[in-house]
Amino acid sequence: MSVPQSAVVWFRRDLRLTDHPALLAAAQASDHVLGVFVLDRSLWRRAGAPRRAFLAGALADLSDRLDGRLAVLHGDPARAIVGAARHVGAATVHVSAEFTPYGTARDQRVSAALAEHGVGWAATGSAYAVAPGRIRKADGTPYRVFTPFSRAWRAHGWRPPAADAGPIRWLEYDGPHRTRLPEQPSTGTSLPTPTEAAARRRWRAFLDHDLAEYDVHRDRPDLDRTSRMSAYLHLGLIHPRTLLADLGDRRGAGPDRFRTELCWREFYADVLFAEPSSAWESYDPRWAAFPWDDDKARFAAWQHGRTGFPIVDAGMRQLRAEGWMHSRLRMIVASFLVKDLHLPWQWGARHFMDLLVDADVASNNHGWQWTAGSGTDAAPYFRVFNPITQGQRFDPAGDYVRRWVPELRGLAGPAVHQPGRERPPGYPAPMVDHQAERIDALRRYEQIRG
Ligand code: FAD
Repeated sequence: MSVPQSAVVWFRRDLRLTDHPALLAAAQASDHVLGVFVLDRSLWRRAGAPRRAFLAGALADLSDRLDGRLAVLHGDPARAIVGAARHVGAATVHVSAEFTPYGTARDQRVSAALAEHGVGWAATGSAYAVAPGRIRKADGTPYRVFTPFSRAWRAHGWRPPAADAGPIRWLEYDGPHRTRLPEQPSTGTSLPTPTEAAARRRWRAFLDHDLAEYDVHRDRPDLDRTSRMSAYLHLGLIHPRTLLADLGDRRGAGPDRFRTELCWREFYADVLFAEPSSAWESYDPRWAAFPWDDDKARFAAWQHGRTGFPIVDAGMRQLRAEGWMHSRLRMIVASFLVKDLHLPWQWGARHFMDLLVDADVASNNHGWQWTAGSGTDAAPYFRVFNPITQGQRFDPAGDYVRRWVPELRGLAGPAVHQPGRERPPGYPAPMVDHQAERIDALRRYEQIRG
């Protein structure tokens, strides 16, 4: 009679049961599987309320689908995982590989601790269609520019979704480090439903209604026709390979553009993996000397959507209300912070990490660096977004601004982008003169250009 084998699946940013290569590997190698999640204090503390709430909901959903047997552990991940693996006599701990600076260091520590106790470590798959580190130039170095990376990424291709793992005998756990599922904090924000089924429903609706014209509508916050997959992708409620497989060989500008956007996510993960310090330091070293300002009051006005620039304020208020902001707005408000207020991109990135439900250190911090001009593929520094013309162009009827800035609802049509001198009651005057700040931004840039 063969001895029953058990394995641990340590869920991290892969909170789903379908298209899950690590789960499949565990199910194929073992008779029983213990599913665990570690409530890692150092990550939990850094996550803002929307992300915590979304994570707590996703864990509750996953636990339900494991017949209530998801083991939530607390404490140091190395101790918690070693403790659980030994308690159930697991031969191997299975994970999806992580590539962030924190994730790689943590995994090295945990796998070494497991090895000391004779427990194996198997990393299968990742949160990406192509794992960071795979796409390299002919000379073996990482890409620093998006377009050639995306060409190589498409040429490399990706595997089809993983097969279904079939029925799994989930182990019940009553060992060390066990804790309860986290409470879902109330956030006052309207978050997406945090379940794998909701991710798939949302994706289906996007495929059926919005994909074909994605390239035309993706820049229009008033229309709101993007996929809203970002939070689901971030915590792995759906895998990008599932999306790419559904796109299949659909041709046309909509599907092509969507593939390109998914590729940006993969590119930034790759850049961060190759250059871990770029999470919080400027990728371009010249930027270490940039003469930023240090004005907390101006920062607070930006954070609360009280700059007096309607499109900027609308974006910042959407962020607070939904834990999400349309992509065009992320660029506009980021440009305003670094080029009109001359405040460090890291301040803005930190604020986004606090409030975004899809906060992702690679996409966020490199999105900020792109806008600031300090990152890969930097938007040329002299291209300073004009917050009024950006509003007029991407919210042509002013509907987006009126949705988020109630003080301006009395202004019809595009007039909402330029409320004039007579400000509606309660709405502030513009906090800066954009043209003057633009010149100042360029002058500062000249100082570091070398
Ligand atoms: P769609 O337009 O439907 O795009 C589909 C998917 O492609 C997205 O879900 C996302 O995974 C990926 N994607 C699209 N654009 C980008 C991009 N520029 N960079 C990387 N991936 C992209 N995205 C995050 O997921 N998390 C963040 O924390 C984040 N912070 C950002 C900060 C700034 C300053 C900027 C300029 C961009 C940031 N982005 C971030 C990228 C982008 O704004 C969001 O991915 C997008 O708005 C999410 O909405 P969606 O799912 O409807 O996007």
